[in-house]
Amino acid sequence: MNIENFADNGSTVHLQIINSNYWTITFNKGIIMELTEREEQILKNVTDFAAGKDFELNPDENVVKRVVKGLARNEENKGKQYCPCRLVTGNPEMDDKIVCPCVFHEQEIAERGMCHCQLYVKG
Ligand code: SF4
Repeated sequence: MNIENFADNGSTVHLQIINSNYWTITFNKGIIMELTEREEQILKNVTDFAAGKDFELNPDENVVKRVVKGLARNEENKGKQYCPCRLVTGNPEMDDKIVCPCVFHEQEIAERGMCHCQLYVKG
């Protein structure tokens, strides 16, 4: 297999591979950022939660989508939208504290300018 052409425009990589057949393969670098219907709903919920607060959603869309995907994954696999940046312990009392928005976010934003996952940042 010979790679005959290679182009990288920053977010997408194009490869032209010539063997007995001729192929062009295009793929995205990093995580795929399309959201499912459920992830879109979670995105709306986390957006609404920040409305009127003294913090806001991270302006970096990729960070927000990565967290939203983590919340959706935890909901599907573990039953609740646990913080994707913390460990679920199996202790319900402790784990309820890390259901997003976790009990720590306000203090983290006040002290560090953002919550642990960087979903919310100081306004
Ligand atoms: S750290 Fe941020 S994203 Fe994670 S649960 Fe807390 S508020 Fe949600």
